[in-house]
Amino acid sequence: MTTSGELVGADPAEVLRRVFGYDAFRGEQRAIIEQVTGGGDALVLMPTGGGKSLCYQIPAIARRGVGVVISPLIALMHDQVDALTTLGVRAGYLNSTQDFGERRVVEAEFLAGELDLLYLAPEALGSPNTMSLLARGDIGLFAIDEAHCVAQWGHDFRPDYLNLSVLHERWPDVPRIALTATATTATRDEIATRLELRDAPRFVASFDRPNIQYRIVPKVDPKAQLLDLLRGEHAGDAGIVYCLSRASVERTAEMLVANGIDALPYHAGLDAATRSTNQRRFLREDGLVMVATIAFGMGIDKPDVRFVAHLDLPKSVEGYYQETGRAGRDGQPSTAWLAYGLQDVVQQRKLIDTSDADRSRRRVLAAHLDAMLALCETVQCRRVQLLDYFGERIAPCGNCDTCLTPPESWDGTIAAQKLLSTVLRLDRERGQRFGAGQCVDILLGRKTEKVVQHHHDELSVFGVGADLTEPEWRTVIRQLLAQGLLAVEGDYGTLALTDASADVLSRRREVMLRKDPPRPSRRSRSAGP
Ligand code: ADP
Ligand code: ZN
Repeated sequence: MTTSGELVGADPAEVLRRVFGYDAFRGEQRAIIEQVTGGGDALVLMPTGGGKSLCYQIPAIARRGVGVVISPLIALMHDQVDALTTLGVRAGYLNSTQDFGERRVVEAEFLAGELDLLYLAPEALGSPNTMSLLARGDIGLFAIDEAHCVAQWGHDFRPDYLNLSVLHERWPDVPRIALTATATTATRDEIATRLELRDAPRFVASFDRPNIQYRIVPKVDPKAQLLDLLRGEHAGDAGIVYCLSRASVERTAEMLVANGIDALPYHAGLDAATRSTNQRRFLREDGLVMVATIAFGMGIDKPDVRFVAHLDLPKSVEGYYQETGRAGRDGQPSTAWLAYGLQDVVQQRKLIDTSDADRSRRRVLAAHLDAMLALCETVQCRRVQLLDYFGERIAPCGNCDTCLTPPESWDGTIAAQKLLSTVLRLDRERGQRFGAGQCVDILLGRKTEKVVQHHHDELSVFGVGADLTEPEWRTVIRQLLAQGLLAVEGDYGTLALTDASADVLSRRREVMLRKDPPRPSRRSRSAGP
């Protein structure tokens, strides 16, 4: 059937049934839809898969005029519009990928009021042509999808989103609904402020995804650890493996294929045709593993993704939660697995230090990283800590690694003092800074070439750390970094003291550390290139 305007003024439940074929609303969908259909604004916070699209699609159909949807997902507009058209909804989009002729058709439909929904990229609002087009049409509502992109505090800020303040100024009487699947309390407030939605009612769904099992493990031998996960628990399952760089995406995908796993790469450096083929295959075929940078995933609706694995430390808890939320949309048990190590911390700090962002942006990035590290090193329930970040309190979940095998903690005060005084002595007595490797060699009393060359075997701390092994020292360093008791700086990742280090050195502060679980089996060690 086609809507051709006949559902204007219809009851939302009727639209739900007749157009979308569903019997009942989910969660707060009805309240949201009534609010917007009645001409009010709304701020909607719902996890991925929660059913946000209907919250603006139904009001757009039921209200007079065209619903204008602002979405950053240009690559998906075509699919979204196709899906709506199949249902008989009159939808179109305008973006930079279209030629003049295609645009003309959509513009004419918009002006004639022959559309229920028009999808636009945010940059379009910076174009005088688009603005004058909008001014000549009859607009029923504005929907701002992925609204967290407007927040500078958020993890996914897009400058084009700042254009959106123009909507309220130019069309004060048109209702606006802003939606996002990821917003901490700070990001929510910033969205409300920037979009002039401070007085709009907020509809906040629970962000809990109880079917996803959260696990964060120390990175020891990432290749073998990943193969263990895929073969041991997820043989034949569809899943996503996130890597930080394009190069590691390529390497990891090749490694998996060499080990007989159906894996495809996805990153922004691949040509558009390869990207869209790989994405399509992942969506349509069973049991494929997508190895990707975070360029992949936004707007991907595949219900049976059984695992999301991170081989590198995500930059923020918000990003991490959104990425892992792509697992288990069908409600079936799924795994969110992350391996992280000292090198990740060093690398991420370096990325922040050397980025060309201004100082305040760098502070935001550093705060995001600290929260991510705190999640990795926590001894409490991962889900309690994750949801706390989104302002939600729950009881320990029983379905995360720390609930299932509570980590042991140990008093690491003396170890911390040994390490910190090594850093202090190098700095004070020698005016030198070194990375983790050299500090560990000094503590272990190793007369390496570099130790001898710098006369570090003459330091009083030389050899005082022989009670711990090298991996144990790296764990200590990683956790001190996560707790802000130690810092890494510069291109070479040299270690430096922080303001808080003094409290440990002067015994005013105890340091509790998390004991790493036993190392994983070596059985797949030799696998792969
Ligand atoms: P989001 O945008 O929040 O990630 P979607 O709008 O894509 O989520 O919805 C996720 C899935 O749930 C879609 O397949 C959608 O058709 C389905 N869905 C949404 N609302 C309902 C409902 N009331 N009843 C049944 N299915 C629904
Ligand atoms: Zn838990």
